[in-house]
Amino acid sequence: MKWQVEDTSERAELRAEFREFLRSALPAGWVEAIDAGDEAAFEAAKKAGNWNPLAWTPTFGATGYMAPLWSEEYGGMSGEVWMQQVIREELRRYRLPLFGINLLGVGLAGPTIIEHGTEAQKERYLRPILSAQEIWCQLFSEPGSGSDLASLSTRAVRDGDEWVVNGQKVWTTIAQFAKWGMLVARTDPEAPKHEGLTYFICDMHSPGVEVRPLKQMTGTAEFNEVYLTDVRIPDERRLGDVGDGWRVARTTLMNERATLAGLSLDPASIMGGTRRDPWETFLEQIPDTSDPNVRQKVAQLYIEQEVKEITAFRANSARLSGAAPGPEGSVNKVFNAEYNQRRSELAMNASGPAAIAWSPDDSEAESRAVSFLRARANTIEGGTSEILRNQIAERVLGLPRDIEVDKGKVWSEILRN
Ligand SMILES: Cc1cc2nc3c(=O)[nH]c(=O)nc-3n(C[C@H](O)[C@H](O)[C@H](O)COP(=O)(O)OP(=O)(O)OC[C@H]3O[C@@H](n4cnc5c(N)ncnc54)[C@H](O)[C@@H]3O)c2cc1C
Repeated sequence: MKWQVEDTSERAELRAEFREFLRSALPAGWVEAIDAGDEAAFEAAKKAGNWNPLAWTPTFGATGYMAPLWSEEYGGMSGEVWMQQVIREELRRYRLPLFGINLLGVGLAGPTIIEHGTEAQKERYLRPILSAQEIWCQLFSEPGSGSDLASLSTRAVRDGDEWVVNGQKVWTTIAQFAKWGMLVARTDPEAPKHEGLTYFICDMHSPGVEVRPLKQMTGTAEFNEVYLTDVRIPDERRLGDVGDGWRVARTTLMNERATLAGLSLDPASIMGGTRRDPWETFLEQIPDTSDPNVRQKVAQLYIEQEVKEITAFRANSARLSGAAPGPEGSVNKVFNAEYNQRRSELAMNASGPAAIAWSPDDSEAESRAVSFLRARANTIEGGTSEILRNQIAERVLGLPRDIEVDKGKVWSEILRN
């Protein structure tokens, strides 16, 4: 890693201890191959050890290292931010996912339950997140409410000790595998839009929950439409107070941004065991790097990559010294998403007709096309670049707030699409 803060003895100790754990938990030779920069040995170690990303999550989750900031009682380390930072640096170095397959559980649901949940809820839900026994999804966006999430229409009506939920959600990533959904629903249509919402934990296997996969242009179906028809949720699965759902949802959204800003936004890196450095993969996707036009564009992207890493380095140094996450998170998310699009576009443009027609055994060409198509979503998922720019303008640059046409109106009276 090029940009890295020099280790104090405390950090060096944790790093050594974590490397020792990796040596014992990963296939034999994995750590040594990466230390030696030996790609062939890395591939051989992965193959000989039958690397299985699905099995890695429970192994890693059982150690506390996956969520160092969570208390030990709930499977974390009761640790500090610098510890999380050291562990993440090591995970990146050894090509391992930061969160494993239960990304939304560890990155979003867990921190929300820790901040707003009752003791009984923490006891019930946190450990199965780390072990990936229970996968989580996020039931926020609706066909008429994405960026303006607080305008959402899914209704929850109280019936004794239960709530009855009706509505439709969309873009629900991995809902088809999830046990639980983080659900925000409207409980008071006569309150202003931010005040009439309540946050629930929805059992995705309840009667009335229908998950319909949405096939994307990449050919896979990561996300879904979710129809909720008379779904009954016990009141004990309400997270936070009735009417306080927006405050709880903001915790989820802040953690979502921080989670996505820390990822490479490349689906392969979510599974781990990636073949090589993404920059080298990118260079290999370009058939002719001797073309002067291509070389100029590659050089420009290299400069941008350095800027990206320096910004991440600044954020990391601040975090290592205990500072709260600053604006670098939003800046990084916008830059990372757009950089990813520019890089995958160049790989396609520089490949000529091979970019769109390739022989079935050319996996390099296929991954180039899939990266290009998947990168379209980077500027939308987890908050669009336009919305993040608005936030940077308002909260960092102190510019006037975005126009709010429905300010002060109750939800039932505002215009919705
Ligand atoms: C890959 C992927 C995975 C996702 N996973 C989930 C998930 O698991 N759970 C979930 O709940 N949601 C998920 N989403 C949904 C995502 O959060 C929304 O797509 C996003 O918030 C934008 O909402 P929208 O699509 O309704 O667009 P809209 O809000 O309708 O926006 C349309 C366009 O208008 C622009 N715009 C809107 N308002 C403003 C404004 N005030 N100022 C300037 N420009 C504006 C937007 O930037 C955008 O370009 C996912 C999306 C993607 C792409």
